[in-house]
Amino acid sequence: MRLELDWMGEMKILVVGGAGYIGSHMVKWLGQHGCAVTTLDDLSSGHREAVLYGEWVQGNCGDRALLDQVLAAGRFDAVMHFASFIQVGESVQQPDKYYHNNVVNTLTLLDAMRAHGVSRFIFSSTAATFGEPQYTPIDERHPQQPLNPYGRSKLMVEQLLADYDQAYGFKSVCLRYFNAAGADPDGQLGERHDPETHLIPLVLQAASGRRRQISVFGNDYPTVDGTCIRDYIHIQDLCAAHWLALNSLLQAGPSQAYNLGNGSGFSVNEVIETARQVTGQPIAVDYQPRRPGDPARLVADASLARSQLGWQPQFSQLSTIIEHAWQWELQHCKLDN
Ligand code: UDP
Repeated sequence: MRLELDWMGEMKILVVGGAGYIGSHMVKWLGQHGCAVTTLDDLSSGHREAVLYGEWVQGNCGDRALLDQVLAAGRFDAVMHFASFIQVGESVQQPDKYYHNNVVNTLTLLDAMRAHGVSRFIFSSTAATFGEPQYTPIDERHPQQPLNPYGRSKLMVEQLLADYDQAYGFKSVCLRYFNAAGADPDGQLGERHDPETHLIPLVLQAASGRRRQISVFGNDYPTVDGTCIRDYIHIQDLCAAHWLALNSLLQAGPSQAYNLGNGSGFSVNEVIETARQVTGQPIAVDYQPRRPGDPARLVADASLARSQLGWQPQFSQLSTIIEHAWQWELQHCKLDN
């Protein structure tokens, strides 16, 4: 994978949601690759200390006056947008929260960018825009029929980005993450959601003793062992994909959506077993009923990102993903308790 940018001079990037899990890894990546980075984050779920590089601005991306100030001062080459709410169940209970934050605030951000002549945008989208798979692995041609307000909020932004390109020449790349996982290989950053809902950090909290057990949601799916299959993708590989997407936009590449995963699926039971091997700890399992809205199998076909962006995952082994997340859990289980 070729990671040198073809861009001349220092690149200025605004990272919205740069204090969150994926955003903070991206800020570090950009800082380490010589970019001038500014983070805008309201700390509704992120952590200030996770922002290791660049300028810091605390605030919400729906605050137009603040955006005007930041964009006028910055003269940014591109914006990366990670600030969204991500809990599917909560989105069903409180759709207003999801549509306001994930759609309305994003629209405010896009309009502020247009007003300030910034027209390159990288958007965190999701496999949840596809809904129940009609076939796997899922490529970009797969129909998008999200099953919940979270997925719909992300799809709405994808659609409005296509309209903005058509009408205003606004260029964007939508990156549809499958299951983002793992942690910074240097051990400086990792996943720290509150409440934590994602499988790998919860399994590792059971391994470290922070939790008594891991609840597995459903073991009667039509899969190898009855548990759901997901495509786990290392956070560093996601950062690499953003970097390549940025390069493509800087080279006047077209607006495009890409699915990002390793193309291999692991069941929940396989994740737990791998975590037992990596950590050397016993992990107790409690089988629970299915979680509503969970498809049995979600696996990405990421050939388009590979062929068009030259993307190649470097940490595709599940054991490596879990190993890095485990180093993070070992450091942080004491601090967070
Ligand atoms: N899962 C589970 N127990 C948990 C959390 C998740 O069994 O405590 C399962 C979940 O049902 C899904 C898989 O693990 O099949 C991955 O879930 P996660 O919430 O990490 O990501 P999602 O696939 O929902 O984006």
